[in-house]
Amino acid sequence: MLNDPITTLKGIGPKKAEQIRRDAGIETVEDLLYYIPRRYVDRSYFKLIKDCFVNETVTVSGTIRNVALAGRRRKFLEVEIDDSTDSLTGVFFGGIRYFMKIFSVGDYVIFSGKMNFYLKKQIVHPDFDFIDDTSGSIHAINTGRIIPLYRSTENLKSLGFDSRGFRRIIKSALDACLTQVEDTIDWDILNRHALIGIREALYAIHFPDTFEQAEEARKRLAFNELFFHQYYLSLSRRYLRETKVKKQIDIDDSRYRSFLSSLLFQLTADQKTAIDEIRRDIESPYPMNRLLQGDVGSGKTVVAMAAVLLACGQGRQAALMAPTEILAQQHFINFQSSICRAIRTVLLTGGMPRAEKQNSYEMITSGGADLVIGTHALIQEDVVFRDLGLVIIDEQHRFGVEQRSALRLKGDVTDLLVMTATPIPRSLSLTIYGDLHVTSIRTMPASRLPVKTMAFGEARLDGVYRSIEKYISQGRQSYYVLPLIEESDKIDLKSAIQVYDFLKKSVFPARRVELLHGRMNQEERDSVMYRFKNGDIDILVCTTVIEVGIDVPNVTVIVIEHAERFGLAQLHQLRGRVGRGREQSFCILISPDDISDESRKRIETIVSTNDGFIIAEEDLRQRGAGELIGVLQHGHGKSFEFADLSLDIDLILYARDVAEKHVSEIIDVASLWEQFMHKKYSPLLNGIRNKKILSILS
Ligand code: ADP
Ligand code: MG
Repeated sequence: MLNDPITTLKGIGPKKAEQIRRDAGIETVEDLLYYIPRRYVDRSYFKLIKDCFVNETVTVSGTIRNVALAGRRRKFLEVEIDDSTDSLTGVFFGGIRYFMKIFSVGDYVIFSGKMNFYLKKQIVHPDFDFIDDTSGSIHAINTGRIIPLYRSTENLKSLGFDSRGFRRIIKSALDACLTQVEDTIDWDILNRHALIGIREALYAIHFPDTFEQAEEARKRLAFNELFFHQYYLSLSRRYLRETKVKKQIDIDDSRYRSFLSSLLFQLTADQKTAIDEIRRDIESPYPMNRLLQGDVGSGKTVVAMAAVLLACGQGRQAALMAPTEILAQQHFINFQSSICRAIRTVLLTGGMPRAEKQNSYEMITSGGADLVIGTHALIQEDVVFRDLGLVIIDEQHRFGVEQRSALRLKGDVTDLLVMTATPIPRSLSLTIYGDLHVTSIRTMPASRLPVKTMAFGEARLDGVYRSIEKYISQGRQSYYVLPLIEESDKIDLKSAIQVYDFLKKSVFPARRVELLHGRMNQEERDSVMYRFKNGDIDILVCTTVIEVGIDVPNVTVIVIEHAERFGLAQLHQLRGRVGRGREQSFCILISPDDISDESRKRIETIVSTNDGFIIAEEDLRQRGAGELIGVLQHGHGKSFEFADLSLDIDLILYARDVAEKHVSEIIDVASLWEQFMHKKYSPLLNGIRNKKILSILS
């Protein structure tokens, strides 16, 4: 039976079972079915022995002619086979007694392995299968076909559970129990997307006849994962919608309209759509769960302002959380100058003097403040809102899931707007952000000229300096970014401090060059940033502290040295620091000549496009989903076992459709949700490897 311990299988006693449980997490026969090969090798191509070359990995078959101990002290066993074109000897150094027992003259066998020649053709410790010559059929699981390789450990191997050992027990588990596995997905649902049945998939994931079949099996198992995950998301959306109801407020339209008419620019069409969608969410009785994604510089802040104006009022408050003090301050200044008369705004950051913080706390608690803008300081205990109605998270990928919900929990039923400048490939937004509605700002403000991006070797630095000089003399400013703050013995990279000294003394002695990095104290940083914004600094040498959100429109050049050290998303973010005004801006990527192919590819990608959505897709392709999820959603590095988010977009969409349909037919959402929360939803989970899926949910 599927739920029986693996000791019910032949050859597995309690001791082996315990080691398998410890090293491979396998307890039941069903777990074995889901112990998925890490890869396959193709041994389906048979060669004639006469055609085998030395050092070639081959699969041959033949009849055993001789089994004999050999060597000076009879230390090894030779098993000679013959396929009528030539003969070949399998040589066994270990387990001799066992092999003497199982090989006998006249047996028909298959050998696989790397052939060498030592007096005769041999394979040392070939993998082998016996061929049943009574029926003539081949039941090979180790040779003569596509062979699964399994993860193992030294301890497991010493007990016989190398790939070969796993193949044996997995095969017997399949033979014994596959017919008991029930398909929980209806046949017509599978059929519509050409998905194979669960039994077929579980067999083929281990013992596929072709690589196409292995892929079909993966697809089917991926569908189980995705479907279950989407089911969960869909259920949670419906549960939230139907059980949480907001207090209604009347939107102050005249206040909102006067804000619009005070803007110095026209909103882009995408900005308008975003605001419309947010307005509808705010008016609806259910809490908003919206992700606003828009490339760097696409103008998300003004959308956030609109959201605040729409949602605040009649005592209801809003909170805006940003990942850095610099950014929080920048927002504070912007909000104050744009909506100060309508909305009483306070700032709250960890670096503020005690008394000021105290003042903010009081304003928040008394309701004297309508909006508080701040950093992580907002989620501290001391912060008690009078009536928090809207939570906005800027650059949300910098925060963990817990931090977002911690802020949200400071209100009763709150609207949530999260913003990100790192566009998310659709497959990811449908999975990791599946509980959010997504709004995208794809168009840039029309006044904006696209940044010109160039990549140079270090030999071209002199020319780069001359360009910087030229733009400074026209009144512009520039960023100069390095990956490290200080020199390090371990890696040979230029550091910000080193380059700062060099530029200040030797290259731009007449210019105002300053340094900014994360290890300076808050006051120093603020003062540098303030002077830079004010135009009192020409060149800001810095680390990636400027990466997020900083808006200084007069900067037209950003130089990034050691561009090979940065990821795609990071480079794109850094580039987004320029091109914010009306002037043509430039992004100059400098790297040494001897960099890896991947680094070169990243740089080429950045040079070739300004479109953050394309870059995000490329990032997903180059890095794989697991890592990207970690980047996009801090503390959420888990990925799926079978689904590949960079390939399976169609499957994700399909799984979502099917899941939504299922969920829409549920009558008692609350009680099903309860079951989910208590992890008692086994009917759905049949045929899905429970532990794996559960980890996606937690
Ligand atoms: P991000 O989306 O990266 O947060 P910001 O909100 O900081 O971008 O906007 C970047 C700059 O563009 C700001 O200086 C802002 O005032 C300006 N801006 C925003 N919307 C428009 C628009 N529709 N037309 C012109 N400029 C705009
Ligand atoms: Mg921003």
